[in-house]
Amino acid sequence: MSFPCLEIDCRKIAVNIKLIIRELKGHSIDILPVTKVFMGHPEIAATLVESGAVMLADSRIENIERMRCAGIKVPMMLIRTPMLSQVERVVSSCEVSLNTELVVIKALSEAARTIGYYHGVIIMVELGDLREGVMVNQLESIIKKVLELPNIIINGIGANLTCRYGVAPDRKNMDILSNLVNDIERRFDIKMKIISGGNSANILWALKLERPSRINQLRLGESIYFGVEALKKQHITGTYKDAIILIAEVIESSVKPSKPWGCRYKNAFGDMPEIVERGMVNQALLAIGRQDVNPSGLRPPIGIKIVASTSDHLVVESEGHILKVGQTIKFRIDYVGLLSAMTSPYIKKNFYH
Ligand SMILES: *Cc1c(COP(=O)(O)O)cnc(C)c1O
Repeated sequence: MSFPCLEIDCRKIAVNIKLIIRELKGHSIDILPVTKVFMGHPEIAATLVESGAVMLADSRIENIERMRCAGIKVPMMLIRTPMLSQVERVVSSCEVSLNTELVVIKALSEAARTIGYYHGVIIMVELGDLREGVMVNQLESIIKKVLELPNIIINGIGANLTCRYGVAPDRKNMDILSNLVNDIERRFDIKMKIISGGNSANILWALKLERPSRINQLRLGESIYFGVEALKKQHITGTYKDAIILIAEVIESSVKPSKPWGCRYKNAFGDMPEIVERGMVNQALLAIGRQDVNPSGLRPPIGIKIVASTSDHLVVESEGHILKVGQTIKFRIDYVGLLSAMTSPYIKKNFYH
């Protein structure tokens, strides 16, 4: 074994996605798994497809190309509005992309026409969280122009909430999206195939639906991998919360004072941590640091506390027992932790099937 490592249990992820597919099917909502937190890792993509995903989504073209190269055949959606500098790659590897800028959709149209492909677009609507999306009063005029572009198909509209300001998806804003679909279909005499209502923060809203709305798709990452909805971090009954864990190794362990000595300035990260005098403590260093993972995303086992982190060290204190050099510690990791840990080349990724 090599440490630090992520242990990723694909069997648990498979259980999670199957359960969520089933639950949301009851509300006429399809799920679109999002692979970005795993950087489009082919093992995860294969697990999702084998478990019933008919399309995959990622925010980065590099990840989508990686899955394509690995032989993943399902249609792919790019869920960040394409960079103008990447439109050729987008139309070559993705069937659909989320969009908010006419200038980009025009470039996609041109790139698609050049290679004789058709590219699907979903126009994102701003519903109040103030990240991506066109303002509601500009939606009709954009759609009118997009309808005239060659080699572009309007697949539908969508929205994203919660990521920036924590604005919750609720009946009010989701009804606005549904009504927009009805208005546009009537106004332009078209049929919209995909109404992509949001992310893992939409799950509580979706499960409470009394009758189906026009929203027929959610783009899900966190809920599939961590078994929680993203708004209140409530557990989704029946899913695993521990499909992914992080293991790190102890490299120093001793009993040390809790109070530093000497003249103090700001530390390596520009902070001056407050000192709490606790007498002597069991302190250990683990060989993992801020270069590898955002430590706020780690949860240590009972009896161990993370007290500090620097570039290459995680400082922990243990209660009642002294950790041994060479021993390994298993951490629960959350979405924020995984987002960083996956991108560290120093962390080994072990997949289990
Ligand atoms: C990352 C992302 C998602 C998935 O979010 P989760 O909270 O992990 O479900 C959905 N939509 C967009 C646009 C995203 O960037």
